[in-house]
Amino acid sequence: MGWAVGYDDRLSRDVGYGVPAKCDHPGCDAEIDRGLAHICGGDPYGGEHGCGLHFCGSHLFMSGRRSEHPGRPQLCEACYHEREPFPQKPDVPEWLEHKLSAPSWEEWRTEHPAEVAAARLAVSGPVRFTVFSVQGHE
Ligand SMILES: [Zn+2]
Ligand SMILES: [Zn+2]
Repeated sequence: MGWAVGYDDRLSRDVGYGVPAKCDHPGCDAEIDRGLAHICGGDPYGGEHGCGLHFCGSHLFMSGRRSEHPGRPQLCEACYHEREPFPQKPDVPEWLEHKLSAPSWEEWRTEHPAEVAAARLAVSGPVRFTVFSVQGHE
């Protein structure tokens, strides 16, 4: 079970197994999707214990043996060691291109002109990374 594409309000990004992405581990370029198979915490949005970022198989750690946290199935390195979460990576260009062109995203494009402009810039501009800050709700 799961959903192809959803939205994580806390991280302000698209999630779901229909969303291609890179592993959120710093320096890792593994191509994954943002489905539950790759999520830190094992539950939507990370559940109670995970940060909700997405990682490849090399960067998720099984935590079931830790008796103080039974049932925590998979965690990233930061959460496993109870450190500050890793910064999230920006969406990959192929996903932004999908959002900019797919009929199913027509409504999103109409309702979020600023995000559309940002996506266009990210896809067409020179390759550089923007540091995204985690935004709180206001
Ligand atoms: Zn984590
Ligand atoms: Zn990785």
